[in-house]
Amino acid sequence: MISSVLPTYNRAPLSFVKGSGSWLIEADGRRFLDMGAGIAVNTLGHANPELAEVLKDQADTLWHVSNLYKIPAQQKLADKLVDSTFADTCFFTNSGTETAELAIKMARKYWFDKGHPEKIEIISFHGCFHGRSTAAIAASEAEKMTKGFGPLMPGFVHLPFGDLDALKTAINPNTAAILIEPIQGEGGIRALPDDMLKDMRALCYAQNVLLVLDEVQCGVARTGKLFAHEWAGITPDIMMIAKGIGGGFPLGAVLATEDAASGMIVSTHGSTYGGNPLGCAVGLKVMEIVSDPAFLAEVNRKAALLNQKLEGLIASHPDVFESVRGQGLMVGLKCKIAPIDVVNAAYAQNLLTVPAGDNVLRMLPPLNISDEDIAEAVKRLDAAASSL
Ligand SMILES: *Cc1c(COP(=O)(O)O)cnc(C)c1O
Repeated sequence: MISSVLPTYNRAPLSFVKGSGSWLIEADGRRFLDMGAGIAVNTLGHANPELAEVLKDQADTLWHVSNLYKIPAQQKLADKLVDSTFADTCFFTNSGTETAELAIKMARKYWFDKGHPEKIEIISFHGCFHGRSTAAIAASEAEKMTKGFGPLMPGFVHLPFGDLDALKTAINPNTAAILIEPIQGEGGIRALPDDMLKDMRALCYAQNVLLVLDEVQCGVARTGKLFAHEWAGITPDIMMIAKGIGGGFPLGAVLATEDAASGMIVSTHGSTYGGNPLGCAVGLKVMEIVSDPAFLAEVNRKAALLNQKLEGLIASHPDVFESVRGQGLMVGLKCKIAPIDVVNAAYAQNLLTVPAGDNVLRMLPPLNISDEDIAEAVKRLDAAASSL
């Protein structure tokens, strides 16, 4: 008999009932160290007191009014995002998938309005993940996401990740946009080298193609810069963010330049919940905290500490681990065995990690994790690897 919850997830037999900082309490009382943070979502840890206070205040004041009206909390968050980035404008969503939908619509509408209705192709990359909507799975092409859901939305071209020559060949007069994660998350913490992102940016300008960055996983201070593309010193035309921006409250946003957003006039797009007062109040607090240069410096310092300890771990377990990669606190451990086996062994040590593609174990801890908890996590991972 089918479970009352649609069985689309292979769930670990763990039920967490309470969280605090980087720790989660299981129903039976065990304490787990959380190096997954709900897949890069709990930016500031579980039940963060500052975020909880903002959420409670907003809950006592106003929950929802609809985008038929001006929403001061939404305006403040939009201003903060615009002040902190390349963007001139933002649209708020409840998830990452919805940002993919709007980014694709925005890119196509842009060229349509410029008198180029033929420019509809979106170039995406093997191993990418942009969400589960029909457009987002068409962008991904991976069989496990697309099989049986056809016909897939047309207009997507798929290239090897980071293959600039293939990209140069594939761009044609029908190309509307390149859609890429600066660091692939689900694909296995695969970072695009900074030079390649720079070249891609130049190519987009030269060929009249929009650059759309999916920073749903790598954005919002995760890599030690506010947004991952800052490492390459470039700016996109459109950027998708979600996961970390809400710190656990469902929130996403599409950020764009004035030019890229120029087609999105009244009634071309909308959302009932997107940008509601609860989400935006929390999102503003997250942004205020993580955009502080001192906070970002701490992320980089903690990342160096974690990396150094992981290098030691790899040296101790050369049969289990191969290398460490990623940027900031978006860390991948390339494994020599199936990463899910390491994840399961880590559960037995009361440690949460997340598997990813390309045989990689992901670590995406809260960005304010303590040095002690970083050391504890590596100690537990060491015990997990020894048990294999
Ligand atoms: C998680 C993720 C998405 C989808 O976000 P949802 O909130 O699950 O819809 C899109 N892109 C990237 C890079 C992601 O990591």
